[in-house]
Amino acid sequence: MAGVTIRDLRKSYGSAEVMHGVDLDIKDGEFTVFVGPSGCGKSTLLRMIAGLEEITSGTVSIGDSVVNEVAPSKRGVAMVFQTYALYPHMSVYKNMSFGLKQAKTPEAEIDRRVKAAAEVLQITDYLERSPRNLSGGQRQRVAIGRAIVRDPQVFLFDEPLSNLDAALRVQTRLEIARLHQRLGATMIYVTHDQVEAMTLADKIVVLRDGRIEQVGTPIDLYERPANGFVAQFIGSPKMNFFNVGEVVNGTAHAPDADTYIGIRPEHMQPCALDTAIVSGRLELIENLGEYALVHLIGEAGNDFIVKMEQAPVQAKGDMIGFTAPVDRIHRFDKATGLRHDS
Ligand code: ADP
Ligand code: MG
Repeated sequence: MAGVTIRDLRKSYGSAEVMHGVDLDIKDGEFTVFVGPSGCGKSTLLRMIAGLEEITSGTVSIGDSVVNEVAPSKRGVAMVFQTYALYPHMSVYKNMSFGLKQAKTPEAEIDRRVKAAAEVLQITDYLERSPRNLSGGQRQRVAIGRAIVRDPQVFLFDEPLSNLDAALRVQTRLEIARLHQRLGATMIYVTHDQVEAMTLADKIVVLRDGRIEQVGTPIDLYERPANGFVAQFIGSPKMNFFNVGEVVNGTAHAPDADTYIGIRPEHMQPCALDTAIVSGRLELIENLGEYALVHLIGEAGNDFIVKMEQAPVQAKGDMIGFTAPVDRIHRFDKATGLRHDS
């Protein structure tokens, strides 16, 4: 096993630079998730680590060696793709053993590894089937099995669950988490889904437009987002923003200041209008039984959402005031978006 070190990594297609100097340290055995909106550079970054995409400048190291010029098959990495990329005319067994055969691994060793991986993934009964006769979830398990048999130093996953339906996504996500616990291997996982990032990661890397916005544990990012972008990307429903400069002794101040505040829907508490930090007109209630999502229209016309254990008693159109614990009120700079910590 090995960690991954990335220094001032850049990628251009023609004259267009799409990765703008990324620095990142991934520890041996860590589960790291790259998350961000579509087009932010997650796949490009992963493919540069895999060796599938040429590096324009900067370095990628796996363990102690720079691998910029090392062929993908010699980097000790194994990649799992969204589209599975299985050979349709080969059995599951052959799909899983193909890479080892290419590497001239002895037959008995191949057999041992394929059977052990199949056991872990519970696909032993399908080994002689063709991928064509498997469900999407089973195919993705074969693709993961093909990675496991190679016993890589680093596993790379590019949106491996995106082609699965919602229930299977949750189940397969758990299987990947168990696999990481069991193997203790370094894993790098790309997704645009913040729930996958929060649930799987030891460390989340939030990307936007070819730059890293923040690196941290899921809880770091949730509790102390470095800027307004991360604040709204992590958490669902997303954080509410208000044109309030700061909150002093529980009251809103300075709408004209160069800062604004953010409060997560689950941290807003209803209160009397005269003690409220913000207030809004009740527009719509989504009652999910376990909790209600209450949609309101704020004073300046900005909508916000409050997550409440019970739906409010007020009627549509009524004004409701809200407060929040002081340590749950985030403050960001209007010009730079950066977090203020005073
Ligand atoms: P993500 O995986 O986060 O959705 P990508 O890494 O695929 O994003 O793409 C990052 C950026 O690089 C995007 O702006 C995309 O249009 C651009 N890009 C990716 N591949 C190519 C290519 N082969 N040629 C030109 N631009 C590309
Ligand atoms: Mg991608």
